[in-house]
Amino acid sequence: MSRSTIARINTHALQQNLQVMGRRAPDSRVAAVVKADGYGHGLVTVAKALQNADMLAVATVDEALQLRETGIETEVLVLEGFHDQDELLAVQQQQLVPVVHAEHQLAVLRDNPEVQLKQAWLKLETGMHRLGFIAGQASKLYQRLQTCCTQPVVLMTHLANAEQENASNDNQLKAFDQAIVGLSAEHSIANSAAAWKLPETRRDWIRPGIMLYGISPFADQTGTEMGFKPAMHLCSEIIAIHDCKAGDSIGYGSRYQCRQDTRIAVVAIGYGDGYPRHVRDGAPVWVAGQQAKLAGMPSMDMLTVELPADSWATIGDQVELWGEHIAVEEIAAYANTVAYELVCQITARVKKEVI
Ligand SMILES: *Cc1c(COP(=O)(O)O)cnc(C)c1O
Repeated sequence: MSRSTIARINTHALQQNLQVMGRRAPDSRVAAVVKADGYGHGLVTVAKALQNADMLAVATVDEALQLRETGIETEVLVLEGFHDQDELLAVQQQQLVPVVHAEHQLAVLRDNPEVQLKQAWLKLETGMHRLGFIAGQASKLYQRLQTCCTQPVVLMTHLANAEQENASNDNQLKAFDQAIVGLSAEHSIANSAAAWKLPETRRDWIRPGIMLYGISPFADQTGTEMGFKPAMHLCSEIIAIHDCKAGDSIGYGSRYQCRQDTRIAVVAIGYGDGYPRHVRDGAPVWVAGQQAKLAGMPSMDMLTVELPADSWATIGDQVELWGEHIAVEEIAAYANTVAYELVCQITARVKKEVI
């Protein structure tokens, strides 16, 4: 028998979330972001479920090649583009669409004048200071990049604060729109948060990631509350139960102390599986049809949960860490991080079951 610590991946939820996103921005095409192993859900599983999107987007050429190797023919945008000649040639051969964001990439193109790309996206820096050319150079760079591409170059930028109300969003938009005056190219600005909340960022292409997995980027709302469906259901089972006395302490560092007589269930999942170690006591865990509370520091292979007084839980019962009843966004709040990180850090030990 194998360990029952499983991440169930719901491909129907992924497809439904793509539709919900599409309806929110009906005039835009969608580049569905599947980087980082499909946000921890499994690159190929997610890409297959979302291959009807107008385009798929990954971070690296390696990720794009994995998609091609499994026979996915959807257009693939490579958000960090190529770094050297080998990657450029792979991009050309596999008909990938690279983002060109820096001078060294133009140098690689210059050194390979025979390479003609299907298309490229030109990334402009408008305030985040991560990737992109200084926006003022847009027109010149656009002409230059177009000479290497068969299809029209697309212009893009990325917002630093799309999930918040922040003056920087307006500033970045203004910088972008000023820089591209007179260029009749298509644009792309919005990630999930912008596509959802900032209509003026939707443009020709949106680039949603996190929401396609049913997760909200906003602090005050879960994906479920916005009409999305969680695509990952992380579950395990109870492997021991203890009747503890008032004053007993639980786990490493004795972080949790029972205030009264308490039944403690031990669950077969820990930070070695990607459950966050720094989650605070009280974080919700779904056990035997009820909400229970994390009690004590999660260890590598196990964590401990205080059962409600009326719980029927027994050894072997299913436990949900997040998914249907528990929002991963809530666990992220208890761990002082974002849900993006939690789903990305599920480790290889956790079996994925695709439904
Ligand atoms: C990761 C990424 C996205 C998707 O962001 P979400 O917040 O997950 O929607 C969009 N654009 C770029 C450039 C990215 O790197």
